[in-house]
Amino acid sequence: MLDPVSLYFSSVLVSTTAGTVTYLFGRKYPEFRSVKDWGLATLLIALGTALVIARGIWNSDFIILISNTILVTGIVLTYRSFRVYRRESLKDVFGIGLICTAFTVTVLWQLGYVPERLRGAVITGLFALVTWRIVWLFIAQPLQHARIAQRALVVTYCAYALLNTFRTGAALVGTTNGVLDPTLIEVIYILGNTILWISVTLCVIWMVIERQHGELKEMALVDPLTRAMNRNALINAFDKEHSRASRNGTTFALLLLDVDFFKQFNDHHGHLVGDQVLKNIVSTLKPTVRQNDSIGRYGGEEFVILLSDVDKSIALKVAERARRKFEESGVDVNGQNLALTISVGVAIYPVHGNSWDELIAEADRALYEAKRNGRNQVVYAGDLQESSAEDSTANQVVPVLV
Ligand code: GH3
Ligand code: MG
Ligand code: MG
Repeated sequence: MLDPVSLYFSSVLVSTTAGTVTYLFGRKYPEFRSVKDWGLATLLIALGTALVIARGIWNSDFIILISNTILVTGIVLTYRSFRVYRRESLKDVFGIGLICTAFTVTVLWQLGYVPERLRGAVITGLFALVTWRIVWLFIAQPLQHARIAQRALVVTYCAYALLNTFRTGAALVGTTNGVLDPTLIEVIYILGNTILWISVTLCVIWMVIERQHGELKEMALVDPLTRAMNRNALINAFDKEHSRASRNGTTFALLLLDVDFFKQFNDHHGHLVGDQVLKNIVSTLKPTVRQNDSIGRYGGEEFVILLSDVDKSIALKVAERARRKFEESGVDVNGQNLALTISVGVAIYPVHGNSWDELIAEADRALYEAKRNGRNQVVYAGDLQESSAEDSTANQVVPVLV
């Protein structure tokens, strides 16, 4: 039979190492506060477990009181670190109640009111309770990211909760006589503890890194105001479109849209309403294109649409449909319908260029022409004529904004 003291000793080494590394990692990055809390909880468990070994050397009631309280505090703090990770409320009388229960039961045992067997069962039972609660936390409301890590965490904690529940029962019926009893149950329990800390620590790191990765990816690719693709994401989508079209010998279109007289719109309605309009532009445009077409914010009040697998006539039809939609329906902001028009420049791959820069430049020239010709219109890059005419803006009547 394996010797419980040596097993406990290796368990302490594992949890001290896991706790120290995660604590230092979490301390270095404030956004990983849950990892720091997890590390701290793990170090408390390591300390509590070390005191369990010490109680075999100096059989002092005081050491038992301290180790029981520290162990239950440690497991409660692991639960708390998951709440921190999930960005949930931390007000939790349940956890404080469990720590007080562990302390009180151990004191009552010292005073002779509670039998040894019951004390052991209560402490293990508290571990089982917290562990089931962690399992429930992730089963009842699973998070949208790191699904595999979450599943691994739930499976690990289920096994640990079962182990604790079984050991509680074993302590109650007297199959085990406490933590240093060299029975099969104790050996399995200590080995289970060691495996738990390795497995859960890896899951915790996996989860925070995956979430961080998702958030950074979103920051890099999503426009924060409109939640549409930003310029980086548009360029990525363009690259995919470009390689597919060049492989299959097909064409695609790049539409550059610009809101007409948006400066006046802002001056008239205020920038907050202007922002709301920009947010609504993407949802207004979406129904005018197919699902696999890409819409993104190029900058300011300019948007780009990439239309897969289309030629000139379809591209112009889609651009005209979008333009008409704004002209006829305007945009709804806070229940109010506001008049707004857009101008669109259309360029086709490979007719007007072979790269993002070339096609944007051509679409921009077409857009400029649309502005020059009076706005609220679609201009095809191929239809551009070298013109030395004066910019017609000066003579143009600015629409009355309502
Ligand atoms: P044109 O018809 O020639 O396009 O006229 P315009 O006023 O739309 O064009 P201009 O480039 O002169 O002005 C663009 C305006 O878009 C300037 C700025 O007030 C507004 N704008 C750019 N980004 C934002 C934004 O994030 N929020 C709001 N509310 N306005 C923005
Ligand atoms: Mg504009
Ligand atoms: Mg503009």
